[in-house]
Amino acid sequence: MRPFGKTIALEEARAIIERAIVPIDRTEVLPLREANGRVLAQDVVSTIDVPPFSRAAMDGYAVRAEDTIGASRTNPRTLRRIETIYTGQIPKSHIGGGECAEIATGAPMPDGADAVVMVEETDIDDRGSVSIFAGAAPRQNIGRQGADIQKGQHVLQPGTVLNASRLGAIAALGLTEIAVYEKPRVAILSTGNEIVDPGQPLAPGQIYDINRITVSGVVSDNGGIPIPYRTAADTIDDLSRAVEECLEQDVMVFSGGSSVGERDLILDVVASRGEMLFHGIAVKPGKPTLFAMVDGRPFFGMPGNPTSCLSNAYILLVPFLRATARLPLYEPRTVSATLGRRIVSQANRHQFYTVRLDGSTAFPAFKGSGDITSLSQADGYIEIPASEDTIEEGTIVEVTLF
Ligand code: AMP
Ligand code: MG
Repeated sequence: MRPFGKTIALEEARAIIERAIVPIDRTEVLPLREANGRVLAQDVVSTIDVPPFSRAAMDGYAVRAEDTIGASRTNPRTLRRIETIYTGQIPKSHIGGGECAEIATGAPMPDGADAVVMVEETDIDDRGSVSIFAGAAPRQNIGRQGADIQKGQHVLQPGTVLNASRLGAIAALGLTEIAVYEKPRVAILSTGNEIVDPGQPLAPGQIYDINRITVSGVVSDNGGIPIPYRTAADTIDDLSRAVEECLEQDVMVFSGGSSVGERDLILDVVASRGEMLFHGIAVKPGKPTLFAMVDGRPFFGMPGNPTSCLSNAYILLVPFLRATARLPLYEPRTVSATLGRRIVSQANRHQFYTVRLDGSTAFPAFKGSGDITSLSQADGYIEIPASEDTIEEGTIVEVTLF
């Protein structure tokens, strides 16, 4: 065993990781239907007016507003229907004095008309004579050409995260595809002689790989593409081979072997190939975590313990990955709760302590760093600063929800 060097504070670790962020520059062109949630990599400028023509915004009658002045239920104006205009049709006639056209919502306005009277404020007899019960102001109930988006208008800027409505605005322009930033590709690799892929039989002393699936989930939830690699054995040769293979991706996340045991060789492999930026954070769980640059690639060496690994994936990898993917910061929801049972933490490290919520009462959910149920049976966590060691039952705590 080699004793831990000095650990660094969590804030310092975060700052070091932040300095290593290089937002992705590669772009790809995607069909609109595949671009939801992606980050726009181009300007979107309209080449058309939306709507492309002035149209009725109500079912009713296209009129000359001046012909309806003073109309009311008791004193209607009477106009002659000269045409019926359905959607997708071009109006045939010009609306002159005393005339109107029946018109459907979305149909083009006929020349001469400058307002639509909604059907509820009209009546028609079987000879096509239309009674108008309300005066219309010019432009009333009309969607003018270009009222939504004008030709030449700047609709969206690069860096915008596409969502349903923004994709709708792009579709309104008639575009079928759009340039977005590529997602960062994240190599995910577990290390350890005892680690077996789920689906395989377990020999004595072996355990199933948890970290590959948890880290993959965090990566895909936060704008990255998880690329799982074959588990590496605890030998310098196999670990070196693994690092070599993973260098083809943008980011590397290894787990296991990051502590100070005889077989914890990641440190040696990384130190001999790259620049170690830190090893050991004053945080619980997750102290034996390292961060390095290997051949210009960021390398996260997470602890093997599943809760430590996943906790640090949330705390350290998520902000890094989202910034790399050009996504906005993740801001988790928090709720206040009353602590239902006393917590004693003599960690002397900044602690992320998982809790389960029952109404507005928070109960401790943390079992051990090795226990995935510390997280899977929790609703969120509270943070306990290094300087505090006991939180009494009944204390109001701030719970950050998963
Ligand atoms: P290490 O960080 O390699 O010293 O591992 C610490 C603990 O986590 C040991 O009990 C390992 O067996 C366990 N462990 C390491 N990697 C994984 C993994 N991928 N899935 C589940 N447990 C793991
Ligand atoms: Mg190990």
